[in-house]
Amino acid sequence: MEHLEYASIKKELYNQKSIKKRIEALFLNNIGKIITNNQLVEVAKDPITGKEPENWHQRLSELRTDDGYTILSQRDRNDLKLGEYLMLSTEKRAKINKRVYPSKECWKKVLQRANNSCEWSEGGQICGLKDGDVDPIGGGKVKLTADHLQPHSFGQKVDVNNPDDWQALCGRHQVVKKNFWDSKTGKLNIKAILQAIPTEEKEIAYEFLRDYFNK
Ligand SMILES: [Zn+2]
Repeated sequence: MEHLEYASIKKELYNQKSIKKRIEALFLNNIGKIITNNQLVEVAKDPITGKEPENWHQRLSELRTDDGYTILSQRDRNDLKLGEYLMLSTEKRAKINKRVYPSKECWKKVLQRANNSCEWSEGGQICGLKDGDVDPIGGGKVKLTADHLQPHSFGQKVDVNNPDDWQALCGRHQVVKKNFWDSKTGKLNIKAILQAIPTEEKEIAYEFLRDYFNK
């Protein structure tokens, strides 16, 4: 493999209104160059307030899944380190993942079944947060949205009228499902979780692993 250069950031290029647009611009300006986690955070920051968003990782994943960009990481190439990304072409894949929503009637039935609460279940525990509740973990007001029970990615027909194909999820569990749960294998995506958690929690995980491996 050829030797890869690192991207450089000219901050004045990244005044786009949304986090996703700024991250997209960073990749499009640096085709074939390595972009680091730190550079992504820099660009994701609000250009006016300088506030660092917590959800930039989700925006990055949307560029892949919703916009169809191919963004490579360590998973794809071994000359990339953890937290390094690479876009080799501006080409977008055809939108096989286009978001589909249940019909109004169907969504109404889902909410009835769900008793207006998040249906996420983990280890037999149902999340149960209701629309408008304050999320005690993620903070912010809960807004329930529809989630299709099978992955969209294989082009199978989505039935927008069958409530059994849909579930109601809170925002936090939409993120968990999308980023942290591999719907094909049913296994947790541990690396994505570690990437997303704050530094203090990374340190706890790091210390645990260091002790575990006795190093
Ligand atoms: Zn939930």
